[in-house]
This record gives sequence, C-alpha cells and structure tokens, in this order.
Amino acid sequence: MLIGPQNSAFAAQLAQRLAEVRATLAAAATAAGRSEHSVTLLAVSKGHGVEALRTAAGLGVRDFGESYLQEALPKIAALAAALPGAGGLNWHFIGRLQANKTRELAQHFQWVHSVDRLALAERLSARRPAVLPPLNVCLQVNVAGEPRKAGIPPGEAAALAHATHALPRLKLRGLMCIPPAGLTASEARHHYGQLHQLLLDLNRQGLALDTLSMGMSGDFPAAIAAGATLVRVGTAIFGERA
Ligand SMILES: *Cc1c(COP(=O)(O)O)cnc(C)c1O
Repeated sequence: MLIGPQNSAFAAQLAQRLAEVRATLAAAATAAGRSEHSVTLLAVSKGHGVEALRTAAGLGVRDFGESYLQEALPKIAALAAALPGAGGLNWHFIGRLQANKTRELAQHFQWVHSVDRLALAERLSARRPAVLPPLNVCLQVNVAGEPRKAGIPPGEAAALAHATHALPRLKLRGLMCIPPAGLTASEARHHYGQLHQLLLDLNRQGLALDTLSMGMSGDFPAAIAAGATLVRVGTAIFGERA
C-alpha cells in the first residue's frame, strides 16, 4: 500500500528531512575533501505515493529511485503529467531485474542500477527505443558473496563490464552494491571501499566509469567517505514505508 494522501504537515516534515539529508551529505563530502556536487542524492520513493514525490520534486529533487516496475509506471506518468516536460526528472530502477520487464524498463527509465547478467544487459540494449539516448546502467556487485543475493561476484565483474560497455544502446556508468544487513560503520566503510577499488581497477583497464551507487539512509555518510558518487536514500527523506 502506498502512503497518502499528503497534507501540509507532511510536506513541511518532508522539507525538514530533505534539508537534513542534504546537510549531512554536504558535510560528509566536505569531510572527504570533495565537493557536495560530486554526490547525487537519489530519493528512493518506493512505497510512497505520487503526492510525496510531487512534494519532493517541488523541493528540487530530480532523481527518484524505484524498485518495482508496476508501482513505478503510474508514478512516472503522473509526474510527467504534473510537471511540464516531466521537469527533467531522472527515474532510476534499483530493484531486482527480470527478463520480462526489460522492455518497459528500457522505455521508461533513465537508469538501471541492478544489471548483473549479460543476457539482461543485452535485452535492455535491444529494447531501448531509438529516439531515446542510451540507457545509463550500473552493474550490481555482490561484494561479500552473500548467497541468494542479486549481483555479480567481484571476480566476474570485469568481463561483464567490458561486454556491457560494448552494447550500443547502453551507457555503462559504474557499479552498485547493497551491503549485508547489520554491519558496523567501519565494516560498511570497508565493504564500500572494496567496490571503490573495483571501480578503480576497471578504469585502469580502460573503462571510464564515473558512478559508484552505494549508501542508504542508515549509512550514506560512510559510503561517501569511501567514494560514493550517488547515494540511495529513502526512509531518511520520506519516512517509514507502509
Ligand atoms: C529501498 C532501497 C534503498 C533505500 O533504503 P532506505 O534505507 O529507506 O534509505 C536503497 N537501495 C535499494 C537497492 C533499495 O531497495
């Protein structure tokens, strides 16, 4: 169930939370010797209704993250109708990829963060409409080798990266990870550091990757310390999901 309808108290609370997240992001970037503009804030809006997204867009949010295609499509349509020219919004798919969803993903999203198999990358490339620019993708890496978790093992990432880079209708931007639950701050930082190292290795092999998608509400400052260029923050902006 989506949360809504919203009221002005909700809007004020969202503005307050968003301001806090932006301030924390800026402080973490500064502490890491980086510009706050080097980190994109992806507002993860799964579980929240159109009014919450519209409010966030009104507060300057341009990047929205969704995990479920069927939930996302009506929101994408509603915001396109509400904002002239869709307000320059970028829709990022961060959920588990399924082959039978690749056509609609390639039509409606600007980014897919969860590519972990070449067959899925090939399908996304083949289905990306010719009128649109190439689809931005990240490879999801299962950094800790957790069983049953999405993501390619780190040792197989280079082969997948080179094969994905060669696909005509995709633009390989970087790497994404979701750490195991319950890590301490220093464990999370180590985990994120491993993904950063993998990105540097791939760039030494000639790929020009510019995106490290890592860090969520509970740990995004640690991810920024480890080199994140895009943090995926849901609860800290929108509140608890239903
Ligand atoms: C839901 C989700 C997030 C956001 O999680 P919060 O803890 O609410 O910030 C980030 N990344 C992925 C892949 C998610 O599924």
